[in-house]
Amino acid sequence: MASSSIGTPATVKILVVEDEPKTGDYLRQGLAEAGFVVDLARNGPDGLHLASSEDYDLVILDVMLPGLDGWGVIRALRKEGRMMPVLFLTARSQVEDRVKGLELGADDYLVKPFAFSELLARVRTLLRRGRATEPDVLRVADVELDLLRRRVHRGGRRIDLTAKEFLLLELLMRRHDEVLPRSLIASQVWDMNFDSDTNVIEVAVRRLRAKIDDGYEPKLIQTVRGMGYVLETPEAR
Ligand code: CA
Repeated sequence: MASSSIGTPATVKILVVEDEPKTGDYLRQGLAEAGFVVDLARNGPDGLHLASSEDYDLVILDVMLPGLDGWGVIRALRKEGRMMPVLFLTARSQVEDRVKGLELGADDYLVKPFAFSELLARVRTLLRRGRATEPDVLRVADVELDLLRRRVHRGGRRIDLTAKEFLLLELLMRRHDEVLPRSLIASQVWDMNFDSDTNVIEVAVRRLRAKIDDGYEPKLIQTVRGMGYVLETPEAR
């Protein structure tokens, strides 16, 4: 990847505390593919031990955990003065959990089952809030993507995107000049495993390209045959 001030920082460390094996593995893999450094603990005591001894930028904490539940973990962390943002994962049935968690210092919630793209959006928002260095606006070539207002401009002209197109463009911009495989785009934007029967990605890229590149030069979104897609900046050519 080209050197850039807008890429996902390689050194952002996230701890996932989740006892359900499939969910834990899925989160670890998805977050790693999104460019984060990820540790996974599968019970409360291990999670607390890691969170107390390492420096994490964010903790994703399941509520129901063996050994020590999510409440116990966050209570102990805050008592130690560890104030990193904590995103709670909670079951739909535990509605009163939201109140309890807020009182204990959780920063945000996600109700299971959740879409990975939603988790990623929450993670990035929490990291932005916690770190002054992450910009609110991504700029690549003459494209501007405003993460807070959810607006996109190219050459100063407003471009209307759907929610998925916005996520797709955000991913391409964050990792510009890097060829992104369809499987990665599928998991990051659509929460699905790559399925060769679907052309949903091709269709979405075509639509996004029509909005971003038609009538503009240079053309930024390129297809790399047999591999995937890249948002290529003029400097990288
Ligand atoms: Ca659990």
